[in-house]
Amino acid sequence: MPMKTLESLEVQGKRVLVRVDYNVPIEGGVIQDDTRITASLPTLHKLLERGATVILMSHLGRPKGVDDAYRLAPVAARLEEVLGRKVFYISSKPASDETARAVQQLEPGSVALLENVRFESGEEKNDPELNRKLAQLGDAFVLDAFGSAHRAHSSVSGVAGLLPHAGGLLLEAEVKALGKLTEHPISPYVVVIGGAKVSDKLKVIENLLPKVDRMLIGGGMAYTFVKAQGGQIGKSIHEDDFLDTARRLLGTYASKIVLPSDTLAGDSFSNDAKLEVFPTNAIPEDWEGMDIGPESRKAFAAALEGAKTVFWNGPMGVFEFENFAGGTNAVATAVANLQGAYTVIGGGDSVSAIHQSGQADKISHISTGGGASLELLEGKVLPGVAALE
Ligand code: AMP
Repeated sequence: MPMKTLESLEVQGKRVLVRVDYNVPIEGGVIQDDTRITASLPTLHKLLERGATVILMSHLGRPKGVDDAYRLAPVAARLEEVLGRKVFYISSKPASDETARAVQQLEPGSVALLENVRFESGEEKNDPELNRKLAQLGDAFVLDAFGSAHRAHSSVSGVAGLLPHAGGLLLEAEVKALGKLTEHPISPYVVVIGGAKVSDKLKVIENLLPKVDRMLIGGGMAYTFVKAQGGQIGKSIHEDDFLDTARRLLGTYASKIVLPSDTLAGDSFSNDAKLEVFPTNAIPEDWEGMDIGPESRKAFAAALEGAKTVFWNGPMGVFEFENFAGGTNAVATAVANLQGAYTVIGGGDSVSAIHQSGQADKISHISTGGGASLELLEGKVLPGVAALE
């Protein structure tokens, strides 16, 4: 059954509870990247145009109970700026009587933001009592938090069952854009996977390998594959528990998997480490692979050339250190420069890399959900989406 869309939901004069993903990076009270806030604006404008009162809820970080460091006050302030209207920030716990009273007092057509839903201990347990209390705050429910749609939590899927519901415009756009990668992607289909660990992304790797033409594996996870082939990887990050799995995948999909032939290594895990390039399968004992090397950057760009469908998740190295960001930037440029390809980037690190490179506008779709986009590509039905069917 298809997901119910915003169009089909009666919202005029109703209090609409909207689950958004405002889990934004905040340092010293200052929001570092407000993409997730601005990404929710189309849904908010649409609801307000159609005469709804909007009650927003989101999580922020991983607080254990009420914790001032995880309050949504800076988010409320930024939302007010980008939305261009008053946002009532209700700082009591979302399921408290105070919050219920504050919501009752809202003028029709106004916008309120509830406090961090993870201040409620029942949120991550999808607690029925919390579902009931949250549902009492609204007449209808909209899920627009694509970045949280893979969580079966109270504010994501729990409330949906108790109220008339629909997916928001962001959720709909994400599901559609990522759907093009799973339903009849145009070949050549090339996937670039990076990041620290094989174990985190094994399911998506296994699910995608039969469907893609090439899979380029970079970042820390590449060393597990190279070790599985008998290479010497020095003190590079790797997972011995996954050597057999890596060997099996290399055996079955030898012609599709592209590993970095060379590595930019450091003599310590720091931006100031001494640098040297080695073949990835001959890294001396005291050196650590921190980025793909110059030959690999060229080979990865060449393997992307001519692709018609591309998905990229995960950095090619420890890109937080400027000296080891070159491989990730090279992939960003290679993906951005593809002509006539459908390109999708998901995952916080690769998304910040494409933004930093100033080439985000050349990408077909930049996903607001790392984990959620990976789970969709694993072939899973996201609990948040399932609750809207
Ligand atoms: P993920 O969240 O799985 O996409 O992993 C991202 C993290 O992987 C980043 O913090 C990178 O610093 C880290 N990473 C990428 N390549 C390496 C590497 N060669 N060694 C250690 N960490 C790495």
